[in-house]
Amino acid sequence: MVKDSPVIADVLPLFVEFIEELPLAGHNIHSFDMKYIYRDCEKYLGMIPGNDYIDTLYISRKCLPEMAHHRLTDLAQHYGISTEGAHRALKDCHMTQQVYELLKNESELVSSGAKTIPVCERCGKKMILRNGKFGEFWGCPGYPGCNFTINVRKNKGLI
Ligand SMILES: [Zn+2]
Repeated sequence: MVKDSPVIADVLPLFVEFIEELPLAGHNIHSFDMKYIYRDCEKYLGMIPGNDYIDTLYISRKCLPEMAHHRLTDLAQHYGISTEGAHRALKDCHMTQQVYELLKNESELVSSGAKTIPVCERCGKKMILRNGKFGEFWGCPGYPGCNFTINVRKNKGLI
């Protein structure tokens, strides 16, 4: 698949320029991607990028400890995100981005001290805080199979 593609020494400078000083987000980025980025930046560019990074694997282990597996496709399924075309680079980027946004909501809830993440009355799944036309609401991760929702009533115990 990559045999006619440019080699890392040629694309790495473009990558480093592209990421600027921005934080990087990735699934298992701490143990996997950063290792190779650091290794090759040192080897070919004589520098180590100082970008901060966010590992969605780490966040999911913290926020969703009840899940048996934390692969990107497990999280996508949990959140009702399409996994069609998984393991192709761009598709995995889009999945990671969507998973990150949803995990961010969840981790903000945990750190803001919200005690109660409601459970879907129809299928028993832990609900997800989503943004809709009329603001935030709790949606079932089984959507579209299950379309149970709960209105967010701020100051009334649910958030
Ligand atoms: Zn449900």
